[in-house]
Amino acid sequence: MTENTRADLESWFRYADELGLGPYYRDRAASKAFPLGQAAAPALSAPATSAAASPQFSAAAPRRSPLSPLPAAAPAKLMPLIQSPAGPSLFEERIENDSLERIRADIGDCTRCRLHKARTNIVFGVGNPKAELVFVGEGPGHDEDIKGEPFVGRAGKLLTQMIEAMGLERSDVYICNVVKCRPPENRLPEKDEISTCSPFLARQLTVINPKVVCCLGACAAQTLLETNQGISRFRGEWFDYRGSKLIATYHPAYLLRNPAAKGEVWKDLQKVMSVLGLQPKLRH
Ligand code: SF4
Repeated sequence: MTENTRADLESWFRYADELGLGPYYRDRAASKAFPLGQAAAPALSAPATSAAASPQFSAAAPRRSPLSPLPAAAPAKLMPLIQSPAGPSLFEERIENDSLERIRADIGDCTRCRLHKARTNIVFGVGNPKAELVFVGEGPGHDEDIKGEPFVGRAGKLLTQMIEAMGLERSDVYICNVVKCRPPENRLPEKDEISTCSPFLARQLTVINPKVVCCLGACAAQTLLETNQGISRFRGEWFDYRGSKLIATYHPAYLLRNPAAKGEVWKDLQKVMSVLGLQPKLRH
């Protein structure tokens, strides 16, 4: 190596150090989220059923999309984005004898973040407390805020159709959100709101301990996987989340705006069905 090259490299390293890039390169391999390789979980890579077995919610035939999952040989590298709150974290600590009732009681009439100001009801979650499958959305909308129940508006009706197409009833699964209060104007929850509220979600998932967590949309997936990568980079891939299998798919509200994406979502749900041993509900 010439002296000039060495000087250039040293200058670059100093510059990178000043930018604080050291932790980025040091820690990125240690991300908590990692795709489950096909070799480790071969059954997860094959759809349970033919996409031709069209579910009731699937108006569009499955088709190849530029948003198809990355091949197993080139898994998405997930970068940490959302940090756990400073100090002892509910993300890290397992609470002795925790229960959904205790979590709800701990939330109380919560004012921990600014979302409490405009809410009508705290939307905690509904469904089977021993569910094998939990759906996680981002936050309540207008209808959910009024009723105090997640996914009861138009997007909620579509989610119910999706659940029924999987051969389940809504009461078989558990449904909740990252934040429990409606963001004004249906905006996305902000980072500090997510970091304040999401420990309650983490506790809900720990208590329920489902086989599969299905994230609906980027917010839920990015929160649980602690990444800022776009959902199209890892949608339909399997990850480990504290012993549960986690998969991300598009939010039903997105499907209302982009019905052509229903085929991609159905492929993701088929993967979930394969893990849970479910058969699709066919049209009569
Ligand atoms: Fe509390 Fe969560 Fe509502 Fe914020 S969103 S006020 S943290 S319950």
